[in-house]
Amino acid sequence: MFPVKNHRREFFYGLIRIHVLLHACHEPIFGLAMMEELAHHGYRIGPGTLYPLLHGMERAGLLKTLPGQAGGRARRLYRITAAGRRALDRAKAKVDELYRELHEAQPRKLKLH
Ligand SMILES: [Zn+2]
Repeated sequence: MFPVKNHRREFFYGLIRIHVLLHACHEPIFGLAMMEELAHHGYRIGPGTLYPLLHGMERAGLLKTLPGQAGGRARRLYRITAAGRRALDRAKAKVDELYRELHEAQPRKLKLH
């Protein structure tokens, strides 16, 4: 069991990871720009949280880093990998499925054994 705070954190990390993959799928991303983008969507996430999350996704083979420039500064840029694209496709199917059920008047009735 997670303590309540960590539990909530774990819950939103999944959504944030999907969001990171989505943006990395369209253009190279870097920490600060991703933090601003997430804030736009209502996630307040600081560098102490986002950078370890990005590194974890890199270790998992979902992102790869390359040195680069953004906004006239040297930045550590992240690109999505082939495995990251597959993970994004699977996540999209799951989120679509969940979305449908969330917006139905009632969820499916559970089978009572
Ligand atoms: Zn976004």
